[in-house]
Amino acid sequence: MTAQASGFDCGPAHAPGLLTIDLDAIAENYRILCTRAAHGRCAGVVKANGYGLGLEPVIKALWSAGCRTFFTAHLDEAIAARSHLPEAEIGVLNGLITGDEDIYRGHNLLPTLNDLGQLHRWADYCRGAGQPLPASLHIDTGMARLGLPQKELEQLYADLSPLEAMDLRYIMSHMACADMPEEPMNQDQRDRFAEALKKLPKATAMLANSSATFLGKDWHFDMLRPGVALFGGAPNEDGPNPMKQVVRLQTKILQIQEIDAPQTVGYGAAFKATGPRRIATLAVGYADGFLRSLSCRGTAYYGDQALPLVGRVSMDLTAVDVTDAPTAQVGEMVDLIGPNHDINALAREAGTIPYEILTSLGQRYKRHYVGGLQP
Ligand SMILES: *Cc1c(COP(=O)(O)O)cnc(C)c1O
Repeated sequence: MTAQASGFDCGPAHAPGLLTIDLDAIAENYRILCTRAAHGRCAGVVKANGYGLGLEPVIKALWSAGCRTFFTAHLDEAIAARSHLPEAEIGVLNGLITGDEDIYRGHNLLPTLNDLGQLHRWADYCRGAGQPLPASLHIDTGMARLGLPQKELEQLYADLSPLEAMDLRYIMSHMACADMPEEPMNQDQRDRFAEALKKLPKATAMLANSSATFLGKDWHFDMLRPGVALFGGAPNEDGPNPMKQVVRLQTKILQIQEIDAPQTVGYGAAFKATGPRRIATLAVGYADGFLRSLSCRGTAYYGDQALPLVGRVSMDLTAVDVTDAPTAQVGEMVDLIGPNHDINALAREAGTIPYEILTSLGQRYKRHYVGGLQP
């Protein structure tokens, strides 16, 4: 199947930046995670437009790999996902906002019940509808972010009857430190979750995000719930990364200048030449999500040749030193994310996490989807 046949390509016609998204790599990552899962079951988290890579192509690639359960953050994301996957199970992580009940029911979506108020409201709604409608229960085991806090959980134990009114499919919690395997909180959250499950009705239990998947099977429970690993994110800083790279980002050289001391490059004259250098200006900047924190720190690649970023990242432009790539020419492409430099490497240079790299990817690149959609 040719790459163009994916039908998902989008973006400006004359863009100097090319973002290539490998849908087969996403499918392969899903299969890798399923193979690792204690019970072979794995959902896909696709919030924020499929971690910035495009909701529709991402969920279709996951579906083709066998994924049947998806989670978004917002209701609108779930409605969009439903329009592409009529048969999938789709949950909304951010909780049941008052007045949205009919929308959940209309689109056959699972609210995540994050507090007792939401839980009672969904139970009442189900009773009114005369139907046990599906939902997930989220309990807080230490994040203090979303989910029933311990106090509300105790109240729920005292009266579990609201849960009987609904079709409780999942009981979930979320890990705070799973990317730090030595952190004692990992065991603590796991134990709290296991304790809670003993007192709650039977439902599919899920705790593990991407990183927790690699802590070990004790964290897997019935089903995994990864996001970033599907898209090539490393489970933690230090260990090996078993995930396939999904993204390649290339941009054009717009101009090359020969400079010499005491010339400087870019805003703030932040790079000062100490000798003759060849400086290439690239058509990418912080308006494209190429983070300004990469100023003077990032690396681009011309083939296998590393090119240090010099000076500050501008809104639409970034300079790299191509002295060691003497054949590099105007109009050629360099890799910002590529075979030699993955999203994890770029994130380290930017002082951030691969999640932010992915979800910041700009809208000015030509987006080219390869693989996927095997008939
Ligand atoms: C984002 C999210 C996930 C997925 O996390 P990753 O670290 O990307 O694997 C799972 N569960 C919840 C509740 C989330 O918010």
